[in-house]
Amino acid sequence: MEKIWEASNEVGIPMEYTKDCPFPIPFVKAVQIPGQGQFHPLKYIDGLATVFNKNGGHIADNCRVTSVSPDDNYLTVNTTSGPIIARQVIYATHTPPGVNILHFRNAPYRSYVLAAKLKGSYPQALGYDLEDPYHYYRTQKIEGEEFLIAGGADHKTGHEDDTGVRFSMLENYVRQYFDVETIAYSWSSQYYESADGLPYIGRLPGSDKRIFVATGYRKRDDIWHDSRTNIMRSYCQK
Ligand SMILES: Cc1cc2nc3c(=O)[nH]c(=O)nc-3n(C[C@H](O)[C@H](O)[C@H](O)COP(=O)(O)OP(=O)(O)OC[C@H]3O[C@@H](n4cnc5c(N)ncnc54)[C@H](O)[C@@H]3O)c2cc1C
Repeated sequence: MEKIWEASNEVGIPMEYTKDCPFPIPFVKAVQIPGQGQFHPLKYIDGLATVFNKNGGHIADNCRVTSVSPDDNYLTVNTTSGPIIARQVIYATHTPPGVNILHFRNAPYRSYVLAAKLKGSYPQALGYDLEDPYHYYRTQKIEGEEFLIAGGADHKTGHEDDTGVRFSMLENYVRQYFDVETIAYSWSSQYYESADGLPYIGRLPGSDKRIFVATGYRKRDDIWHDSRTNIMRSYCQK
């Protein structure tokens, strides 16, 4: 945590130690990033898409890219809705399709998440601890109704035979500290970790020079796992 605090302040993102934690979990040390915002990612993307379309862009949805064929002049992007001609292609597909050297340097992990209804109040913050595997929390309002979204129990994909056990680990942990009324939803999903913790953004290795990729964003903003007892969190200002 000290390393995170030091690095964050060094790059100009103020982070401060605090004695208050909005989550009912015992901790030794906590830091916060003041003045953070929380926004709805899908509403944000929807806004971007509207502006993009208004300015002459076109979004072809419900179609899958199956391959890209390079030519001297342009790239033909073959999709399930027909071909698209392009000067450049960016694979923003979480991980690039097919087999690529990046798949050997970008490890898939699985994370487990649940949305709980609480009996008491909901923490107005986004935070995570530094356990291994770690846990993360946020409150999300859906159509006026609050939910605590809690996640964790992560593992490298394929390294757990009984994924149901992971859901139980997470639920037991959450129930230990929060006054849970009911678990409304639970799900799991993958994310990708690069070899050194930084995303791979640029030309897709081994492909035509006009094909780009952005992948390996991981799942949070720190790269150290050296403490089991500290809680790290940040406030969200609405
Ligand atoms: C449980 C969980 C919690 C997370 N929490 C955080 C967090 O707190 N902070 C954080 O920064 N990150 C977090 N992450 C990671 C974050 O969600 C990902 O890094 C991010 O969503 C990746 O964005 P992306 O646009 O690269 O890929 P995606 O969001 O996966 O989007 C890729 C899109 O490409 C489409 N696609 C794929 N293949 C094709 C194809 N062949 N043709 C056409 N379309 C295709 C997919 O349908 C999808 O819509 C979390 C991840 C998980 C699983």
